[in-house]
Amino acid sequence: MTERKVRVRFAPSPTGALHIGGVRTALYNYLFARQHGGELVFRIEDTDSHRFVPGAEEYILESFKWLGIKFDEGVSFGGEHGPYRQSERREIYKKYVKQLLDNGKAYIAFDTPEELEAKRAEIKNFQYDAHTRLQMRNSLTLSDEEVKTLIANGNQYTVRFKIEPGVDVHVNDMIRGDVCIKSDILDDKVLYKSADELPTYHLANIVDDHLMEITHVIRGEEWLPSAPLHVLLYQAFGWEDTMPRFAHLPLLLKPEGKGKLSKRDGDRLGFPVFPLEWHDPKTGEISSGYRESGYFPEAVVNFLALLGWNPGTEQELFSLDELVKAFDITKCSLHGAKFDYQKGMWFNHEYILRKSDDEIASLFAPIVANNGVDTTMDRITQVVHMMKDRVSFVKELWPLCSFFFIAPSEYDAKTVKKRWKEYSAKQMSELVDVLQNIEDFSVEGQEPVVMKWVEDNDYKLGDVMNAFRLALVGIGKGPGMFDISAFLGKEETINRLKRAIEILK
Ligand code: GLU
Repeated sequence: MTERKVRVRFAPSPTGALHIGGVRTALYNYLFARQHGGELVFRIEDTDSHRFVPGAEEYILESFKWLGIKFDEGVSFGGEHGPYRQSERREIYKKYVKQLLDNGKAYIAFDTPEELEAKRAEIKNFQYDAHTRLQMRNSLTLSDEEVKTLIANGNQYTVRFKIEPGVDVHVNDMIRGDVCIKSDILDDKVLYKSADELPTYHLANIVDDHLMEITHVIRGEEWLPSAPLHVLLYQAFGWEDTMPRFAHLPLLLKPEGKGKLSKRDGDRLGFPVFPLEWHDPKTGEISSGYRESGYFPEAVVNFLALLGWNPGTEQELFSLDELVKAFDITKCSLHGAKFDYQKGMWFNHEYILRKSDDEIASLFAPIVANNGVDTTMDRITQVVHMMKDRVSFVKELWPLCSFFFIAPSEYDAKTVKKRWKEYSAKQMSELVDVLQNIEDFSVEGQEPVVMKWVEDNDYKLGDVMNAFRLALVGIGKGPGMFDISAFLGKEETINRLKRAIEILK
């Protein structure tokens, strides 16, 4: 067998917002494709028209654009294996359904939903398979003549896959190794429905993977039970030589670790489970997204990459390019990965630290302006420089930094009680005089002068600094005192001190 070019696909069904687990699946496909010099295909699996949700496809595409995950081929990207939307490939599937029927690998079944229901009531744990198919109304039990007449008379039918019992089915999984199951546990899956003239997921998925020359199928663990059926379908078509290798990725688990991560966990604990904000067209419900919550796409990618895989080193921060180099699908975990959303926030914090002050300032500037402050980019950048190590999100800056731009209008009562002593007003009045005489109001210019005054008077440095801080900031927290006063400048610093003295006495 000649080496084939690596081709992988991400094949979502457009049934709503893309779940964060789906984003990770796409990311792993992307990393795998890139590191093998291969191609990533974007296919839309929309054969189930009942579950189709308008806007979902656009949403998914926009998500990947934001995240920087690029596809080489597929819906909206073009390519030589199109169309890439399954609803536009009906005729292709019909041909392959016919091939299976002609080769005796599939058969036509006329059982109505009522008849199937009755069988289920009659036989406990009924399964449509080798043991029961001859009790049913299908082309194996009816004559050719009867089948033809039923179809000619407009009876609806399905095409079922004829699974041979007693066969060991091997799934070659890059994470799990050889997964072997007995064909007896599989039922004769419906591959096609005459009612809507559409194949089911299984048939369309296999035919497309084959025609699109997919070499590796990387997808969520929830598809592992379907994999033996997919292997059998490849064999039934005689495509064994081009059977893809599989990788079934570990589940994303609730932050507490038990059970699958759901949207409800996000609502309950206050984190998004979708990449972008999603407006459900049916219910009108709005769900939060990572983008709108203030995450950097690089941070989301980095966070997701490490949910289910780790490099085996201490390194946690990876750019997309570094991930392409380090990622190893065979090292993915066999167990579910706890969705530690606080770790996601930590990643965002780390990316804030690594981004330039200018970049963060450009994101912070509109927030400053929205709060009615007219200032320069340079001053915003100075504030960012002092404060960015304290936040995980740009939006957290304003509550921490507003005092740089707007003088406190009130003073935190608890801090006043604790920090404003009976002698604080006197000390602060003296400090006003000390500051008044300082020419160079930089940190270096102020600090020695103020320190000397404190020493000469035998004041407690803590007392002085606490009162000073309260006067300038309004609360008991903030960066270095002289950083604040230097930023505010002499006039504003003295004004704030005087106001505090007057109000707090
Ligand atoms: N359409 C399936 C999904 O929505 C694709 C599963 C697969 O990758 O085979 O996840």
